[in-house]
Amino acid sequence: MSSLPPTMKAVLIERFGGPEVLAYCDVPTPQPGPGDVVVEVRAATVNLTLDIHTRQDGDGRNPMLPLVLGSDPVGVIAAVGSGVDSRRIGEHVAVASTLACATCANCTAGRPDACTQPRHLGIHRWGGYADYVRVGASDVRAIPADLDFTSAAAIFRHFPAAYGLARKAGGCHDQTLLVMGASGALGAALVQIGKQRGSRVVAAAGSDAGVQAALELGADAGINYRRHDLEAEVMAATDARGVDVAFENSGDSKLWAAAFACLARNGTMVTAGAHGGDEVAVNIKRLYRLKLRILGGTANTEEDFVATCDAAVRNRLRIPIHCILPLSRVAEAHELVSSRTAVGKVVLVPDRAA
Ligand SMILES: [Zn+2]
Repeated sequence: MSSLPPTMKAVLIERFGGPEVLAYCDVPTPQPGPGDVVVEVRAATVNLTLDIHTRQDGDGRNPMLPLVLGSDPVGVIAAVGSGVDSRRIGEHVAVASTLACATCANCTAGRPDACTQPRHLGIHRWGGYADYVRVGASDVRAIPADLDFTSAAAIFRHFPAAYGLARKAGGCHDQTLLVMGASGALGAALVQIGKQRGSRVVAAAGSDAGVQAALELGADAGINYRRHDLEAEVMAATDARGVDVAFENSGDSKLWAAAFACLARNGTMVTAGAHGGDEVAVNIKRLYRLKLRILGGTANTEEDFVATCDAAVRNRLRIPIHCILPLSRVAEAHELVSSRTAVGKVVLVPDRAA
């Protein structure tokens, strides 16, 4: 049985455009269908690509309209549909951003992380900029109940992805890593995972404050790539050997090439972002002579989520929070993230909880 209110507050976009297309309004509260849960949202983060770019022009992802943005809500299960025995009302959960189709060959073979037609919450399905969100019961995962929701939203947005990237790169145990954009949330997560696993972490960021923030998270060396030559500094920090793994998530053509030039023999470049551009030049001779690998994309699995829960319970994870705003101030939140002046995440919470 559910006792959901008939209507709820949500941020709806009916067309693409500037922050003015974000309408804070009343819409019908979603009711759980068979196999669904409805989550009472407590927090959702604002992300440059998933939220801002989708709002501006759809980001080439063919989103549904009208749309409620919000790819990573966390909250409390408020209602369960028929046939759901895996989840219970009152459970604290994070909603997976990527929703497996449940019908493709990989999904039916028990590999939803390799789904061939994944859909994205807040792009292809109404997301978490709302009081409630409806998703499949298999799309939510229990999170530690003693974790505050704003921290949880930021942690579960970025750490499963970061653990997934580290896993793709071979685990990042006892290696030398270069983390570009180390003051960003994903970068901050990668710095912490590298240190947990005994690696030496060289953190690079575009400001002295960003470098300092990464050093405070445990990075062994820091480089401001706006003021210094990245390759020269990385070589100086690694006895001229270079790094085993470089994480580069900006897609900026100069930064990407510079990070690629820092790879040691058999090194791996991992890339999962392109907010700074989407075309880069690759030195092919370097690629094959040094037997380098370039890996793309996130694919976080249950294992990455469990790793995040375990580390969060031990209170070892930190994602800086810039500010917490009520949903009704969503336009301001988007402007803040667009301006790239926020240091840390901007988190939205429903007005009733603000
Ligand atoms: Zn599938």
